[in-house]
Amino acid sequence: MGKIKKGVNCSVIGCNERALHSLSIDKVQEAIRTIGLKLNIKTSRRVYLCEKHYKEIKKQLKRMKKVEKWKHGLPFT
Ligand SMILES: [Zn+2]
Repeated sequence: MGKIKKGVNCSVIGCNERALHSLSIDKVQEAIRTIGLKLNIKTSRRVYLCEKHYKEIKKQLKRMKKVEKWKHGLPFT
């Protein structure tokens, strides 16, 4: 998790909260799409998120990981 500059706003369109977290777009774009959020990102490969959206996306990432495990099946079970 990178530190971010002060005064950066959340990258989610329609959200004007101060961003507290920054994540690589590759890691989160699928989760964000699944939730149905839109990002306001032009050139940066990083996503800046406020606390609320960060938590939302983290939750979704966890959910997706579980599905992934289930899809591939667990070895030795
Ligand atoms: Zn936000």
